[in-house]
Amino acid sequence: MSVAQASTGQLKDAISTRIDALRPELERIGRDIHANPEIAYEEKQAVGWLTELLKKHGFGVELGVANTPTAFVATRRNGTGPTIAFLSEYDALRGLGHGCGHNLIATASAGAGIALAGLLDRLPGRVLVIGTPAEEGGGGKIRLIRGGIFQEVDAAMMFHPDTRTQVLHWALAVTHMHFEFTGRAAHASGDPEKGINALDAFVLAYNGISLLRQQMKDGARLHGFLKEGGTAPNIIPERTSGEFLVRAREQAYMEELVQKVKNIFQAAALATADLRNNEVLARLFEENLRRVGLAPVEGVPWENAGSTDMGNVSHVVPALHPTLAIASDNVPGHSQAFLEASGSPRGYQAMADAAKALAMTGADLLADPSLIEQAKVEFRRT
Ligand SMILES: [Zn+2]
Ligand SMILES: [Zn+2]
Repeated sequence: MSVAQASTGQLKDAISTRIDALRPELERIGRDIHANPEIAYEEKQAVGWLTELLKKHGFGVELGVANTPTAFVATRRNGTGPTIAFLSEYDALRGLGHGCGHNLIATASAGAGIALAGLLDRLPGRVLVIGTPAEEGGGGKIRLIRGGIFQEVDAAMMFHPDTRTQVLHWALAVTHMHFEFTGRAAHASGDPEKGINALDAFVLAYNGISLLRQQMKDGARLHGFLKEGGTAPNIIPERTSGEFLVRAREQAYMEELVQKVKNIFQAAALATADLRNNEVLARLFEENLRRVGLAPVEGVPWENAGSTDMGNVSHVVPALHPTLAIASDNVPGHSQAFLEASGSPRGYQAMADAAKALAMTGADLLADPSLIEQAKVEFRRT
């Protein structure tokens, strides 16, 4: 073992000790976020608790970045060196609270940032904890990208709780479409000929979508629901509205499908990119996972793939989005059982392990900036 490796090992031990000491504080905030779910762009309490913690540990906090009140950038720096960002998600699901476990993401990234920043005197550079609201359908990270928040970031990292511990993660490109049909109301029995039925328009479009589904490429998904279907059985429905998600493995094919759906529905759309795994970051993270005692499983590409706005970040800077298991394989995401796992001792253990492995990966990058160059070479190639 070289001297450099030996000292990096000591720094990683220091990270581990630091996260263990921070754990009660991190866990308390995780439990508060879990018990007080706030949906997209309304995450005021979560942001308050997280930024208070980061300030206490020496970070300068800029709140409301990119014109987004519940987004923040917390910064600590020393000298010149790479900029490592840990991304903190904290939004809940409408109607289901923290059924996606973002309370664990929030605190793992904050903990990783604090632990890594504690080494800045030995490893010069800049550590950011970026508070990214509205992952669940709101595209918060897309706003932050447009606001220039990632311009000086060299590597962006986070973890997501899951049923498996996996270094690579596949996420589909997705477009969130809102549609509405407007017709004309009339008495359904007295004056049916005067009405224009917005529900019939929806039914036709819905059937069109069902027919399109048969011709789609592998892995593409098209699903949605009707929010408003009318107001009374004796009134011709004047207005219908709903939402559809269009997903595909590559952005280009997703856009093709979106166009087809637009031909069926007149819809407004918000797109999220597919996730590009940076192999350089992934390999470093894998070593660090083993260091904290976890053995990741080999992922099957696209199996049970969802979507995330981290995909958009991964198109802008080298990015890492591994998963750590907090529940058994039969537990579906976005469920009551996953909500419980997100508040369980196993969930908080995963949070602490993730914080350690993320901070250690940051330490690798600060200690040897040529690794960042390698990550960027790979990023530019893909
Ligand atoms: Zn989710
Ligand atoms: Zn999630």
